[in-house]
Amino acid sequence: MGKLSNAVWRMLGAQATRNQSKSVAMIEASAEHDEWAQGLSDDLFAAAAGELDVTSEEGRTKFLALAREGGTRALDMTPFDVQLQGALRMLSGDVVEMATGEGKTLAGAIAAIGFALSGHHVHVISVNDYLAGRDAKWMKPLYDLFGVGVGILSEKATRAERQEAYACDVTYGSVNEIGFDVLRDHLALTAEELVAPTPDVAIVDEADSVLVDEALVPLILAGSTPAAIPNSAIFDVVSRLKKKHYDVDADGRNVSLTDEGAELVETTLGGINLYDDEHVGSTLVHVNVALYAYYLLERDVDYIVRDGGVHLINASRGRVARLQRWPDGVQAAVEFKEGLELTEAGEVIDTITVQALIGRYPKVAGMTGTAIAAGEQFRQFYDLAVSQIPSNAPNIREDEPDRVYDTKANKVEAVVSFVAGVHETGQPILIGTHDVAQSEELAYFLERAGVTAVVLNAKNDAEEAAIIAEAGRKNAVTVSTQMAGRGTDIRLGGSTGDDDARDEVLELGGLCVVGTGRYDTERLDSQLRGRAGRQGDPGRSVFFSSLEDPLVTKNITSMREVHATEPDGLLGPKGIETVEQAQRIAEGAMLTLHSNTWNFNRQVNEQREAIVRRRMAILTTDDAAQELRTREPERWDELGDIDDEVLTDAAREIVLYHLDRAWADHLAYVADVQASIHLRALGAQSPLEEFHKLIFAEFTKIVEEAMEASCETFREVEITADGVDLDDADLHRSTMTWTYLVHENQFSAGSQAMQGIVGIFR
Ligand code: ADP
Repeated sequence: MGKLSNAVWRMLGAQATRNQSKSVAMIEASAEHDEWAQGLSDDLFAAAAGELDVTSEEGRTKFLALAREGGTRALDMTPFDVQLQGALRMLSGDVVEMATGEGKTLAGAIAAIGFALSGHHVHVISVNDYLAGRDAKWMKPLYDLFGVGVGILSEKATRAERQEAYACDVTYGSVNEIGFDVLRDHLALTAEELVAPTPDVAIVDEADSVLVDEALVPLILAGSTPAAIPNSAIFDVVSRLKKKHYDVDADGRNVSLTDEGAELVETTLGGINLYDDEHVGSTLVHVNVALYAYYLLERDVDYIVRDGGVHLINASRGRVARLQRWPDGVQAAVEFKEGLELTEAGEVIDTITVQALIGRYPKVAGMTGTAIAAGEQFRQFYDLAVSQIPSNAPNIREDEPDRVYDTKANKVEAVVSFVAGVHETGQPILIGTHDVAQSEELAYFLERAGVTAVVLNAKNDAEEAAIIAEAGRKNAVTVSTQMAGRGTDIRLGGSTGDDDARDEVLELGGLCVVGTGRYDTERLDSQLRGRAGRQGDPGRSVFFSSLEDPLVTKNITSMREVHATEPDGLLGPKGIETVEQAQRIAEGAMLTLHSNTWNFNRQVNEQREAIVRRRMAILTTDDAAQELRTREPERWDELGDIDDEVLTDAAREIVLYHLDRAWADHLAYVADVQASIHLRALGAQSPLEEFHKLIFAEFTKIVEEAMEASCETFREVEITADGVDLDDADLHRSTMTWTYLVHENQFSAGSQAMQGIVGIFR
């Protein structure tokens, strides 16, 4: 399925090509304005830029000349034509494919300036804080020259600093920080506390990583409530289950009790019925969570244990992220499994997926080294078109045919001997692995073969970027988990740009990239390969696979007989075919999963937007006071002595409290429905329809119920000249809040069950 749609996309590329020739013509025409641009003093530059109407053809042509001159003057980089082409396509709202090392940072900045000059507020969205900060600082002289203000968000920034960063014309930030700001606005009790601005233009760096691979990651804002102590009896019985008691489905995403398992759990828990009304929404959910933690989450693949705590590994980036935890049940279950102290539980106050976050921007553009292969997703989920920008210098990297082995052991042996052989020549080698455990295992075998490798995993982003930047030095051997989204350029000879060192590595054939197994999509393979052969450099890439790789075992159910023709277990073309077939199946499954999950999330997103609008109205107007006054005129008159403003603020505080309470309860309800609906799905209804029906029905009630609760509080709570004290009325807002994200492979109780439904769809 993936393959077919990619082929269709390449055909649709005809459209992109037409657009390209228009861009090329415009760039050629812009040369006639070069002299004008060069003649502008620094002082006059911004004014000249400000006068342009970048939406017109003439304005845009002049803008290109300014960009060329600006890059030269401010950054000592004269934008290549292909970079200007990329910027033009982004200004038209495309995702552009530009290979690694082609200079997307500059192309993105030019596009951002173009948008800013026509009055837009632009967010340049990166995969992490480090890259956002680095790119913004690097490009700042260019922005300064154009008189365009640029701000940076960082994890450590205070509220005031964030507001300031967002007030700039262009703001660089990571997708997480921006998302968390949107969520944290849900804690604002006055309009002054709001941080996140109205979304306008988003330029997304590493667009496929953010918009496809991480699209379903829910960002979560949680608050502490009196801890819901997990039931250790449940963990206990689940931990003692045998293989016959539970089923893991073929793709390893779901686990459920077998009949025998259910019986055992029911007896152990005192003869209950897991599937009756009393237990379906609670005990069964907890059992599922525990099963998930025990039998699907793997130490050193999904998480590591360090300093007495569980640290999540972000599977698509292979690193430990700060401030991450699973939804409470899962977190507690993993802590229990590892014999650690249970950390405090919390309640979800608000949540949004990356996809919904980006969906809030009226205009989205993006850039990445691998856009075409994700074309179908960009179109289907974001209505975005893709443009392939030619590379500045032709790509001369040699992509060698895959080497597929019968067993994993034979594959690892082959990788080690290949790497040792290449390393002897001094050629730098970058090895891509799938997870932390695999990295460490490989590094160990390499060490035994006399090759010392730098292992890159679970480091902080800045350190990581520095290590990658050195992966092109002579003799370097670097082992890294997935390279997608690691937006760092690997220069041959090292990051200092020493010409002799570079020449030496050029002589050796550039960077050699080794894959230790195909990824679930060819796009990720390409991301890894793309690290070699940048800007016309030489380079080579080769992937080693085996029929025991998870990609193959998970996706190919009935394996044809494939025999090794060599004593070392190397297979012929049939082996390669098998691996490629497995990858196609995995790609198709991912797309189906993505679209099903999106269908489930869509309505909740719309409801969220409705709540946010309502909340905003309450924050910025005196709606709350008006409404309470209309509904409770007697009480209002009773409080006649109190200053109007104080009363208005008190009304706002009361209504906000109940609205937020209602939304948190609704989210919990949604999670419950998701968790139990697969049981209903066993009946006749379509699970998706049933889900939407229930969620819709509940949502229609919550706003009115929140209002009724507000009236009740208003009648009963004490309001004095100092305002209202909700704590006194036992209405507590979370005292501590935190944010985290859940990787899509690490589903919460709710989405885990949702996976169950998806399974039924397939
Ligand atoms: P990408 O994100 O596309 O991989 P970067 O933006 O990191 O690429 O740029 C790669 C390298 O190319 C950087 O070292 C940068 O200095 C250099 N570079 C980019 N554009 C130009 C240019 N127009 N002239 C000279 N060097 C450039």
